[in-house]
Amino acid sequence: MTISGGCYCKKIRYISTGDIQSSIQCHCRECQYITGGNPNTLVVVPTDQFQFTKGEPKSFKRTDIENPVERYFCEACGTAIGTKSPKRPGSMIIKVGTFDDPSVFKADIAIFTKDKQPFHHIDDSVKSYERRP
Ligand SMILES: [Zn+2]
Ligand SMILES: [Zn+2]
Repeated sequence: MTISGGCYCKKIRYISTGDIQSSIQCHCRECQYITGGNPNTLVVVPTDQFQFTKGEPKSFKRTDIENPVERYFCEACGTAIGTKSPKRPGSMIIKVGTFDDPSVFKADIAIFTKDKQPFHHIDDSVKSYERRP
């Protein structure tokens, strides 16, 4: 499946042509900072079929925690575009809000519900996990 997208100010654009390996909504506390409070919605795609076609994102890794994810974002508008996780080598995790058409997303699983807030919604069709499956 081809997914095209980019950041809010359009300085950064990407394309992904690989199969979606997983469609996730993540309720972890860390994601809440990035989204503004709601769960994050993400797809996992192969890195070798993902590329930035315009602009170069900045990246950030926390140094005070073990095995931090690397977070990619636009330095001009601040949009969080995706992450690479040491737990998923070879994969890029893209944030659905950066898709040109976010409506194609449907979550398979909800993770880190241990951090779920009372105002978060999980559809009945979505399997939930306190941490990871
Ligand atoms: Zn931008
Ligand atoms: Zn998360």
